Amino acid sequence: MIIQGFRQGSCLTFYKPDKLHIDGYLKDTACQVTLKWEENTPYRLIKSIQLSRPEDYLSVYQSGCNFSCLKCHSWEFSQYKSGKWVSPYEISLVAKEYAKLVTVVEPKNRATSYHAQDLCKHCGYCVKFGERSEICPNRLKPEQILISSQGYGPARNIIAFTGGDLACNPEWYCLAAEKIKELNLCLWVLFETNGYGLTLKNLDLFKKSGIDAFWLDIKAWDNETHKKLTGCENTWILKLPEEILKRDFTLEVLSLYIPTWVETDQIKKIAKHLAQIEPEIPFTILAFFGEYKLKDLNSPNLYQMLDAYRAAKDAGLKNVRLGNIGHFINSEKDYEILLQVAKDAI
Ligand code: SF4
Ligand code: SF4
Repeated sequence: MIIQGFRQGSCLTFYKPDKLHIDGYLKDTACQVTLKWEENTPYRLIKSIQLSRPEDYLSVYQSGCNFSCLKCHSWEFSQYKSGKWVSPYEISLVAKEYAKLVTVVEPKNRATSYHAQDLCKHCGYCVKFGERSEICPNRLKPEQILISSQGYGPARNIIAFTGGDLACNPEWYCLAAEKIKELNLCLWVLFETNGYGLTLKNLDLFKKSGIDAFWLDIKAWDNETHKKLTGCENTWILKLPEEILKRDFTLEVLSLYIPTWVETDQIKKIAKHLAQIEPEIPFTILAFFGEYKLKDLNSPNLYQMLDAYRAAKDAGLKNVRLGNIGHFINSEKDYEILLQVAKDAI
């Protein structure tokens, strides 16, 4: 990052040294602690690999991150060294096995989390009771619904890198994407990212290697808020949507509604910025829930989420959805109001 004219990420990662007998943890940069090279092969520390819900794709959860977000939901492995060393070739072996399970083949423009939502609501009714639930979109057959450790849903032809984020060290991702593409199994490669490592040079490398899509997490519009939340500035991140689309990647953006930190005013500015670039960019507003250093902060309520939703639509974005519904729906009445808003939006 420094060589390319950027600042180092907020990436100090806790680890316990293998040989020294020390109580407590030491700290070093994420690329020293969770990435290693052996005989010209990069290895990345991977916490787990799962068919994730509600995304309905195979998620590769990485340890180590170039941000230190106060609200990180993956802090146990993004901020602390944890997992097994995995090479790009080993990722391609997992991808090959996963391809055998795939029950929905998506086109590249649906290589997103956003588009999972119009296929299945993950209730499992069709499999458990032989009939569809009231909320079922009626798009899939029961044979396309699988159970994974995260629940019921289809398996879409997408492999996603998620959890921590070391896009600032592109080699491991590039080699993994190349090897997945060599399989010729119609698998899309998606990178869920905070955007910090997506320099122009790295974006071009990712494009060349076969990465298809980014799910960009814009954590705040206000730079000071972003710095306090993540440890880093957002100036470059706000320029990324345009650069990503220019290179013909599929793009989805998300922002988290964090009461007192990132509320409707900031979400509206992010939405307006995106709409000026491309109104069709899918935008997900996720409800915050207390974790890590913001454990005691409340989730937003239904009215705050609806306010943010309307602001994003008014800003000109055509594809907006709310996520983490379980964290802002607190009664049947809340649920009915949300259903009505969803019906009105169709
Ligand atoms: S496809 Fe099955 S699991 Fe999915 S929403 Fe419909 S009934 Fe529920
Ligand atoms: S970018 Fe994501 S994984 Fe990294 S610290 Fe922030 S929330 Fe956690």
